[in-house]
Amino acid sequence: MKNRIKQITKFIAVYALLMLGSCAEELYKDEPLNQSKIKVSYVNEIALENNNLLMEKINNSALFKKNAMNRIITDTLTGYSIDTDKVKYIVGENFNSYTFEIVTPQQTYLDNLVLISKNGGEYKPYAMRYTLTEEEKLKLYTDEYIDFTNKCKAAEIDNGETLEEILSKYSYNEDCNMVYTWQETITITPCTIDGCLNSPWASFSYGHVLIGTLVCSDGGSSGGDMGSGDIGTSPHGGGGDLPPNPCLSLKKHLSTTTGVKLKAPSMVPALKLTLNQTGENGRSLVKNNNIYTTPTLAPTPGLAIIASYGAKIFGSVHTHPYPSGAPMFSWTDVYSLVLFNNNVEASLIPEVVIFLVCKDANGADQLYALKIDDEAVFADALTADIQANISPSELEGIPEEQKTEKMLGLMDKELTLDYQRSPDKELGFLKKFSNFGISLYKANSTMTNWSKLTLQNPASTNPTVLPIPCK
Ligand SMILES: [Zn+2]
Repeated sequence: MKNRIKQITKFIAVYALLMLGSCAEELYKDEPLNQSKIKVSYVNEIALENNNLLMEKINNSALFKKNAMNRIITDTLTGYSIDTDKVKYIVGENFNSYTFEIVTPQQTYLDNLVLISKNGGEYKPYAMRYTLTEEEKLKLYTDEYIDFTNKCKAAEIDNGETLEEILSKYSYNEDCNMVYTWQETITITPCTIDGCLNSPWASFSYGHVLIGTLVCSDGGSSGGDMGSGDIGTSPHGGGGDLPPNPCLSLKKHLSTTTGVKLKAPSMVPALKLTLNQTGENGRSLVKNNNIYTTPTLAPTPGLAIIASYGAKIFGSVHTHPYPSGAPMFSWTDVYSLVLFNNNVEASLIPEVVIFLVCKDANGADQLYALKIDDEAVFADALTADIQANISPSELEGIPEEQKTEKMLGLMDKELTLDYQRSPDKELGFLKKFSNFGISLYKANSTMTNWSKLTLQNPASTNPTVLPIPCK
């Protein structure tokens, strides 16, 4: 997958007879970090059903409902359900466990169901309830540290107990807390069993692995026969994984304490004040040792800011002036996603993003974001788009070092014509790029949330823009 998107730069290089992106090769690191003996993967229901010992426990438990085909189904009647489509599967030296997300109507807590087998023994079910802040939840799929101390209550589950009974247990006096003996953040490992959820993104997502002992307020503790503890799990909070939920990644940057802090006075608010200039302004987005910084890009007099690329640079935010610039991403902007993706180190690929600050046709300030969903689809679509719109003869007589720029210029010209045909630039963008493996997001006016912009009735003659707010 990664190779395919890298080939885009090679394709353009060959097409334009210019070796573009050759230094990207050296900066690119292919190896995910994983020094742990513990592996975390994602699996679906097929993997569950292939594990007889696990199914024995599931079949004897009141937690899981079955349909006539004996398949596990989620129980929507009670409002609580167990997500069996995306389960975290952990294998350690002497245990393996499956961690399910319990989806509750309130979503106040992070509720997980963990089934763990030690030394090949029967699976024991536990309910785990984490009290995490919204920001901590966003960090569940990154390598950022989360202090889990005193943030998890747990309960052993008896065979006949239902989800509601389990979830109400936490208000009992005999609360049990998880006391952690080991914590590590490791990269998700692709697995090979049937039912693995392996996407190109999986190897860039992280799992916070916790091993600990259940200590109850009545003085009791359970088990301890796993050596260093008796429960091994990776908190599972939905989203943010396969592929990494762009909503989570984008929301982080609307925070005032983490991410690139788009709302900080020196960021988007300052960039908005420059929209009446004739040129563009912008910032690089950098993450180094878990610290985000936003170095200023040199402003340009015209409509083309020059972004920087590198191992720690995962994107940019820039302006399109009003009214001379289109209030939407250009083709060159879209292409810059490839360059960020190909130059940034592997662990930062899920963070790759470009933001655009502009004013729409009504003069209202807007903040847009663009993320890659599927690298392979994106690479193929860009290639096809170039081939459909540029013939090699158009590049004849252009000095070698200017051919890429010429090509991008020609592609931008095509897109500008598209935009001119479409007074609604969001609609124009979606009509052109909705099948490019990328997605467009728009911040609300208070910059507290994003909506994914999608095409409603794309096959009709008059499709419309449907915003889907991030949850
Ligand atoms: Zn731009």
